[in-house]
Amino acid sequence: MSAYRCPVCDYTYDERTGDAREGFPAGTAWAEVPDDWCCPDCGVREKVDFEPAG
Ligand SMILES: [Zn+2]
Repeated sequence: MSAYRCPVCDYTYDERTGDAREGFPAGTAWAEVPDDWCCPDCGVREKVDFEPAG
């Protein structure tokens, strides 16, 4: 399981916890997140801009 961070606002998507607010249950793999999904906090960056976050 990995986590990915928005380079603008530091919102982090963690595969382990998912993001219920965005409709991704815990355990949802990053690969299952739609490519056109945008950062829910800043809305500026898209999935492709996210960086691996340890
Ligand atoms: Zn963001």
